[in-house]
Amino acid sequence: MSEKIPVTKSSLPDFEEYLEEIRSIWDSHWLTNCGEKHKILEKKLCGYLGTDFLELVVNGHAALELAFQAMGIEGEVITTPYTFVSTTSSIIRSGLTPVFCDINPDDYTIDVSKIEELITNKTSAIVPVHVYGNVCDVDGIFDIAQKYNLKVIYDAAHAFGVKYRGVGIGTYGDASCFSFHATKVFNTIEGGAICSNDEALNKKIQYMKNFGISSQENICEIGTNAKMNEFAAAMGICNLKHVDDEIKKRKTVFERYFECLSGIKGLRLIHIKNDATPNYAYFPVVFDEKLFGASRDEIYEALRLNGIYARKYFSTPTNKIACFQNKIVSGNTPVAWDISNRVIALPLYPDLSDDSVDKICKIILNLRK
Ligand SMILES: *Cc1c(COP(=O)(O)O)cnc(C)c1O
Repeated sequence: MSEKIPVTKSSLPDFEEYLEEIRSIWDSHWLTNCGEKHKILEKKLCGYLGTDFLELVVNGHAALELAFQAMGIEGEVITTPYTFVSTTSSIIRSGLTPVFCDINPDDYTIDVSKIEELITNKTSAIVPVHVYGNVCDVDGIFDIAQKYNLKVIYDAAHAFGVKYRGVGIGTYGDASCFSFHATKVFNTIEGGAICSNDEALNKKIQYMKNFGISSQENICEIGTNAKMNEFAAAMGICNLKHVDDEIKKRKTVFERYFECLSGIKGLRLIHIKNDATPNYAYFPVVFDEKLFGASRDEIYEALRLNGIYARKYFSTPTNKIACFQNKIVSGNTPVAWDISNRVIALPLYPDLSDDSVDKICKIILNLRK
């Protein structure tokens, strides 16, 4: 059988390039605690993402927890169930109650027209997700947040490098949390960051990620340990040099899928907002079984039998997760539940070949009835 195709493949620099970058770590013996690599990467990412302040952390999940805790979010937060489990578990682990709002059927981000009816006197924040790198209705969310005096913390884990109206996606909201996990568009192996334009908040997160230590004798916050180590930061420095090329290559793959699969009855492809600069992170396809003639699960199986590992991403809306049930306000989210039964994320990574894309599309299209 021909070579297997995974859903994603982590970007790596050349081995020699990474070696060269970590050489100075051997000279300094400085392995973590915000060393040279950490400082360099933080500065470079501030520039790349166009944000005023940025704190590197150990992963995207920790970024979310730290943002909620440092901002003093309390009570209920309105969020989306159509996301990776981390968005919701970080809310619950911060002592907050997630209240679920449904999503738009066209871009799968939070449906702003349904947020206001969920606001109570306990609501303190909105936690939307730029899912698949799709830009949320940032204006609508801003207006509601202003009107009800709510904080907005974006889960931007999928949205590295995305811009809206020419500015970095991380500049919207009171804070934005990125993930630099191995499977994301930009990786530091494991890693993440919190972006904001609030210097005091940034400082607080800086202390909190290091046990709340502000000086040798002083503990000023109830902290945790969420520091990024020097090897991870060095990987980030290397990967950041290539990320624009990687996104360009993703675009080629994305466009080939689009060409093969657009205009097919029963298939809905990803929709890119006007004025958005995408990062081509994912290629989700939503199947309408009646119109297309085959279900999502049939497509998934057919691909799998051919050594192609797509992902049912997301097949479980987080308000359906059993162990969360007494910690959440599940809400009424029929669109999210429907999409999660019909969606598949096709393999997408920078060096996925044209032939592979054609093969994947052919298998899908052959299942049409
Ligand atoms: C990856 C991801 C996270 C968590 O990030 P980690 O770096 O893996 O901890 C959070 N939210 C979403 C939407 C993600 O995709």
